[in-house]
Amino acid sequence: MTKLSPVQEILKQFWGYEEFRPLQADAIEATLQARDSLVVLPTGGGKSVCYQIPALVRQQLTVVVSPLISLMKDQVDALRSLGVKAAALNSSIPANAQQAAFEQWQAGQLRLLYVAPERLLTDSLLERLRQHPPALFAIDEAHCISSWGHDFRPEYRMLASLKNHFPTIPIAAYTATATPEVRDDIVRQLQLENPVVLVGDFHRANLTYHVQRRQDGYNQICSVMDRYRGQAGIIYTIARNHAEQLSEYLNRLGYKTLPYHARLSEQEKTKHQEALEQDEVEAIVATIAFGMGIDKSNVRYVIHAEMPRSIENYQQESGRAGRDGLPAECWLLYSASDLMAWERIIQQSSDEQRTRARASLKSVEQFCHGLTCRHQYLAQYFGQSFNPPCNACDVCLGKLAAVAEPLRISQMILSCVWRCNENFGVGHIAKVLFGSREAKLVQFGHQELSTFGLLKEHTQRQIRDWIEQLLSQGFLERAGEYHVLHLTAAGREVLRGEQTPILVQTVKASPGTTSLQVFDSWEGVDRELFEQLRQLRRELATEAQVAAFIVFSDATLRDLARRRPTRRDLLLSVHGIGERKAADYGERVMQLIRQWCIERNIPSDLTLSNVSRSDGHSLDSKPIKSNAIAAFPLFEEGLSVEQVAERLGRANSTVHEYLITYIKQHDITDSSRWVEPSVANKIRIAAQYTDNDRLRPLFEAFHGKIPYEILRITLACQSVENTHLGHNRYLGGTPD
Ligand code: ADP
Ligand code: ZN
Repeated sequence: MTKLSPVQEILKQFWGYEEFRPLQADAIEATLQARDSLVVLPTGGGKSVCYQIPALVRQQLTVVVSPLISLMKDQVDALRSLGVKAAALNSSIPANAQQAAFEQWQAGQLRLLYVAPERLLTDSLLERLRQHPPALFAIDEAHCISSWGHDFRPEYRMLASLKNHFPTIPIAAYTATATPEVRDDIVRQLQLENPVVLVGDFHRANLTYHVQRRQDGYNQICSVMDRYRGQAGIIYTIARNHAEQLSEYLNRLGYKTLPYHARLSEQEKTKHQEALEQDEVEAIVATIAFGMGIDKSNVRYVIHAEMPRSIENYQQESGRAGRDGLPAECWLLYSASDLMAWERIIQQSSDEQRTRARASLKSVEQFCHGLTCRHQYLAQYFGQSFNPPCNACDVCLGKLAAVAEPLRISQMILSCVWRCNENFGVGHIAKVLFGSREAKLVQFGHQELSTFGLLKEHTQRQIRDWIEQLLSQGFLERAGEYHVLHLTAAGREVLRGEQTPILVQTVKASPGTTSLQVFDSWEGVDRELFEQLRQLRRELATEAQVAAFIVFSDATLRDLARRRPTRRDLLLSVHGIGERKAADYGERVMQLIRQWCIERNIPSDLTLSNVSRSDGHSLDSKPIKSNAIAAFPLFEEGLSVEQVAERLGRANSTVHEYLITYIKQHDITDSSRWVEPSVANKIRIAAQYTDNDRLRPLFEAFHGKIPYEILRITLACQSVENTHLGHNRYLGGTPD
């Protein structure tokens, strides 16, 4: 075995990690040489140890400026759990705890002191800092000092005079998102002298990016969540009411989620955040307000249910997935209506901010519509290069393809809009192009149009998707109360062949490709034991009053469930277990494992070489209700639910579920094949007066005379129709 360097020694002894991540060692070296530095590492890159390790090596104090109280709390908890003396000074810390911190500081025992920026340069603290100067000022989230960045905080501006007060103490600035301009601005503002600038690789290889147009957004969200039941995720929305509604809806479907936005009280925010950290809920549905304070390393997916406000935001928010280095997925679902929602928010800001905000959104739009590797796009945005394929994004995985004749298809769509006198919405235009025989078309004589059925070889969903693509590229716009489609000047240019839009289509995925890597990383892991350990982790966390991930990361749990250590020396070789963790939790963990192995008569204390592939229970992959698809052609033929049930040998109730899926997936608005139109009419009217997300009140409104099945079919068609009309839930959005 090679001898460890002193800093590696500390990494191993306190954190239980074998190796440094990229640039960590360089960053530590710069600080130990008392140089100023700017360290740009992506979220999860491991910035904290860059300033924590020097404090331990030199046994001197490092003062850390951090913008959020919750962030400080997590860091201090995490350090204490490793046996490091750390404290925070902010408005939430009681006076006696602050006094204790001052005493440790004076006695030279304190290693890390977290301070809010507005507190740092108060007279009283300046006085203490002069008497007992720290060896380093570490500025976390340093981009907050730059008004060029996406997260400017005025209180950070005060840090500009830090160098004047303490010209000889080095400053190290850390950030996860900084374009080259913002980087220069940070160096200038903090007056860094000849700084060591370290910019990490923004390519987060463990993240797989998917960008999709939002269709029935909830289904897209659910299918990601289904693959990660019992594990943690974050879902972002634009506005606070969207977060509330989506969270409520997911709960009704049986997922456990909580909302998070700026209008919640401080207690509620803390409670909801802790619920995620303690694994009491599987996801938080949040606005942009959520995140800075979240340090949870085992977030397995981040879903943007709506467009993020900038690429910087996207990089930071999606970067909260997989901070433990294990595979995680990032999904971005977008629609043209998101731009409208942001526009309403942008309207409220100053002229200068508005220009900048629109430019930021433009980049997000480009990212969404583009056909470049997602990892490459992000790397380039932050001034780096990356050579695709990444094998970890929808583009490189071959899930998206450019349409062969984008101009011809765009012209068909635009001329159809024109021929319908610019008087109809997305759904109707798609039906005309598809050649639907629905009553409403015939009523307007649209089956006579030259564009009728021009795209009949494609699905209605695909056609609608293309219309949406034309909308978001500005060739069409929605107008009026009913959101009818109008051609824009650019759209007319397309009709004249002077411009060609980009149109993409989704390629049918072969099953399992998205989560391939997830399965890999479970290799050799005893799944059931993992669950038991997770349970134990929850108990340990509750007892210690810290977040679950502070006790052990998921990676550590997997490694435990893989190697099943029952001896201390082997325990210390587990990823993420250092001496303090072994001392604090080791006995309980080993006891559980010992018992587990005895009861099942399976070997313990495996070394990596004898952890076999077959040994682990594989992660069961639940296929997403594909049975329903078999029923679709039969519905298409016009068979009734009962007939389909008989053909497929399934219960009526099951086939009924398939029918609802069919209606949604095929955008059926006309329920007359299953429900008498006059009855449907009554239901639709009554639904306006009852809580429309619940069936029971409606059922009761008809004194139980109309069966639930009929109610559901009618409402499913109605809901498809509402989406077509553009009656979407985004119209009343308010920020945060
Ligand atoms: P950042 O602040 O850059 O987003 P953190 O400092 O919170 O990232 O680190 C993210 C996670 O990675 C933490 O759980 C941390 O303990 C872990 N980590 C840091 N350095 C290493 C390393 N060298 N090896 C393994 N894990 C590490
Ligand atoms: Zn790629």
